[in-house]
Amino acid sequence: MKVKTNNFVVNPEIEARLYFKMFQIISNASQWKTVIEETLKTIGENLPWQIVSYWEAVPNSEFLKRHSQWQVSKLDSNRILDFQIFSRDIELKKNATPPGEIWEENRSRWTKDVAMSKPFCKKPFGIKEDSFSGYSVPILVEDEIIGVFGFFSSTHQKRLDKNIAPLLVNIVGQLGQLKKRLDKEKELILAKEEAVKANKSKSEFLCQMSHELRTPLNAIIGFSQILMKSKNPVLDSRFKLDVKTIMDSGQHLLLLINEILDLSRIESGKLFVSISPIDLKEILSEIILSIQPLLKSSNIIYIDSFSNLDQVFILADKIRLKQVVLNLIANAIKYNVPKGSISLNYELQEDNYIRINVKDTGTGIPKNIQGRIFDPFQRGEAEDSGIEGTGMGLPVSKRLVELMDGDIGFSSVENEGSCFFIDLPKARELAGDQKNRGCNQFLFEEKEIMSNQNEVLKILYIEDNYINLTLVQRVVEMDGRIDFYFANDGNKGLESAQVNKPDLILLDINLPGINGFEVLKKLKENQKTNRIPVVAISANAMVEDIDRAKEAGFEEYYTKPIKVSTLLNIFNQYKELKAKI
Ligand code: ADP
Repeated sequence: MKVKTNNFVVNPEIEARLYFKMFQIISNASQWKTVIEETLKTIGENLPWQIVSYWEAVPNSEFLKRHSQWQVSKLDSNRILDFQIFSRDIELKKNATPPGEIWEENRSRWTKDVAMSKPFCKKPFGIKEDSFSGYSVPILVEDEIIGVFGFFSSTHQKRLDKNIAPLLVNIVGQLGQLKKRLDKEKELILAKEEAVKANKSKSEFLCQMSHELRTPLNAIIGFSQILMKSKNPVLDSRFKLDVKTIMDSGQHLLLLINEILDLSRIESGKLFVSISPIDLKEILSEIILSIQPLLKSSNIIYIDSFSNLDQVFILADKIRLKQVVLNLIANAIKYNVPKGSISLNYELQEDNYIRINVKDTGTGIPKNIQGRIFDPFQRGEAEDSGIEGTGMGLPVSKRLVELMDGDIGFSSVENEGSCFFIDLPKARELAGDQKNRGCNQFLFEEKEIMSNQNEVLKILYIEDNYINLTLVQRVVEMDGRIDFYFANDGNKGLESAQVNKPDLILLDINLPGINGFEVLKKLKENQKTNRIPVVAISANAMVEDIDRAKEAGFEEYYTKPIKVSTLLNIFNQYKELKAKI
């Protein structure tokens, strides 16, 4: 069979079409395999080749292995069909075949008679009839050959058209660049995945650590509070001072743990803010009211500079905004000078943001640490000054403000004072009823629940930790009007709930045997117990734990260490509820 010689001339129109298609392939590229397959097809369909192959170098070996191949839908001789099948499965050794030689020589090459070259000549198709030609081009990524392209005609060509070689070399060169980019992207994706994984383990570790630390802290702070409140004459004032030191150290440690937890939650994307319009004047007034004892004890004067300002609404998370402003005020007081002053105001910025300023007349921030104070644990000279702190307040504040779409910054002059600012988006004015709802809700969250001493409350506490149990028992004794039952595992707790019918169940989550969630489920399934309110008291402080507990049907979720005053408030709240029923 004689095959008609192809016309191997490439005109500018074919060239332009090929470049345009290659441009499309490269700009949409995400998978190397797809790129190769599409390239082979595009080249094969636009140039007079019958087979187009790509062999890839097997890493750390002397072999090329076929990666992909394209051939015309109907090969015009059996001989080239044989070649196609044979070359599909063969592993080509470096230097032993045309592609292998190209790999070794690192240059493109025109082979007039492919079938006569090793190892193809050993095959019958190499000897039969007239032969066929091929052009091979190595592909380089950063000076290293990663594979070889082979373009085969079904006929014997004397020479290659002068336009084809540069065209193919150019295309393969662009593919080399693309491979480099895809490899880099893959590296980045892998690095990102690793970082996400590491961050997840970090936050899981922190959660675990906080669990471990909160449990003993619960005992340290709780028992010191009980001793402080004790009227026992044996505990003289000096002794109480020691107890206060224990309590303060416990509180300090707790603050640090909470701030580290906050930071890790924010960084792992697990802390969510709930943005709503907030009456700024109202919230600042509440903050100022709450810091009166601190101002008094530190002898710092507060200069009112916002009462006369217009009412504005900003978009923020109320609780988190309060946390940030309180932190800035606490710093303004802490790093002030004796008889110094602080002031608080707000102003409208040009970009429709409201700037809240917290100004002090304190020591100022030395220039050399100004660039670092938003980094964790950076305390500058405060570290040796005896002023208490963790170096975590500003980093947490910065991340919280950014979560609320805001900005935080400062200006400071040493020995004159500092002014910290928070910029937050201004909200549109609210209708009257919305305003009130927001305000009442806030007041409700803050208000101390009045004690209802007449009502007796039956409480069941299911807890396996002896110290926690004793602590709650002591608080129950302080209240004086509570029937207290306890159980140290879930099953006993379920039994006690049925028999004693408590008004409230306090339930630990990490119980031996059946855990708190299962206990709750069983309580809810039983007609005798399904109406009893259940409050979770757990050392797990991650947002997911709290969300899961709320979803499961707990009335409230408190994290350990739980304050004595919080416990007393819970008791009073349920006494009030009982009185209403
Ligand atoms: P902390 O106060 O617990 O040390 P922060 O993160 O709140 O941690 O603050 C970091 C550091 O920035 C402080 O240790 C202090 O050196 C400096 N700083 C913050 N606020 C002020 C301020 N108003 N005046 C002077 N220095 C400040």
